[in-house]
Amino acid sequence: MIKFLDLEKINNRFRDEIDGRIANVLDRGWYLLGGENDNFCDHFAEYVGTKYCLGVANGLDALTLIIKAYDFAPGDEIIVPANTYIATILSISENGLTPVLVEPDINTYNIDPKKIEEKITERTRAIMVVHLYGRAVEMKEIWDLAKKYNLKVFEDCAQAHGAIYDGHRVGNLSDAAAFSFYPGKNLGAFGDAGAITTNDEDIYKKVKTLANYGSDKKYHFQYRGKNSRLDEIHAAVLDVKLKYLDADNERRREIARYYIEHITNPKIVLPTLNGMDEKSCVWHVFPVRTENRNAFQQYLTDNEIQTIIHYPIAPHKQPAYAEWNNLSYPITEEIHDTIISLPISPVMTDEEVKKVVEVVNAFN
Ligand SMILES: *Cc1c(COP(=O)(O)O)cnc(C)c1O
Repeated sequence: MIKFLDLEKINNRFRDEIDGRIANVLDRGWYLLGGENDNFCDHFAEYVGTKYCLGVANGLDALTLIIKAYDFAPGDEIIVPANTYIATILSISENGLTPVLVEPDINTYNIDPKKIEEKITERTRAIMVVHLYGRAVEMKEIWDLAKKYNLKVFEDCAQAHGAIYDGHRVGNLSDAAAFSFYPGKNLGAFGDAGAITTNDEDIYKKVKTLANYGSDKKYHFQYRGKNSRLDEIHAAVLDVKLKYLDADNERRREIARYYIEHITNPKIVLPTLNGMDEKSCVWHVFPVRTENRNAFQQYLTDNEIQTIIHYPIAPHKQPAYAEWNNLSYPITEEIHDTIISLPISPVMTDEEVKKVVEVVNAFN
């Protein structure tokens, strides 16, 4: 079986180094907000290119804390792509704000900048972009709109650690950005973990306080905060794996390039960089579309190739957002009905990659 993502193999490459770092944490007996957290956050900020990085408990918290830090009024609106993982949308609702869904571009799967302006109202406060499937959003038009309407811009970078747009890494393209280090992400911990990056000192201080019960001084509570912190053990693991992130992303690009050059089955719609630089995509997944998606998935399973659908049901069709169930987002729905992700990961062998191509090309 070619696994979709062999996490054990991915992490075992660094086993000795990680074992040593975890042993250090145990020897020190300090488990939260210690040296490992500081180290990793310094290194991650340096990597992303921002002045600040705050470690938090997971990606959803990172998103939620960013929005909370801006003190928007209940009922204010935030623009978000209609085809994202539910967490992006939850972070807006959780703050008592209204998510305003915008259709993606069918070629990039990212929010369609041309469809944003018609959704901007008096209540719009921010645009939340999602670098979906590892591919950086083309930010120029987003920045122009934000400037014109005086909006904040936030990034959901949970799928795009290391992607570069116009010389800058994602996470450094907006007012504040959220990362997830869920085990299966391009940079993954040994459990839940996340981070916020920003160049804004005030926002950094505010999210830091909010994430620590609203406390900026022990037993003094400035805000009604949350408990969302990055454990020392996860920080140590992430600090080791960060050193290999660029090399891992490069291997993903190599595989993606091979798929794009060699998959020739006319029934399969391949992803395209749409003229953007190769560095703009870190291929968190390799999404293809096909009309007969379920048969295609069964066929791949029969041929020992594991796939995952990102995602089978659009957010506006979910029971959690029943008030949207009758709305129509045709491009989002088309994507959800036809998309399927082929295996891609830094530990896939050339033989496995070749086998995927052969099997996909033989599908009819
Ligand atoms: C994984 C993911 C999240 C949530 O991250 P968690 O760490 O699982 O909370 C948010 N947005 C997107 C796009 C994701 O893929």
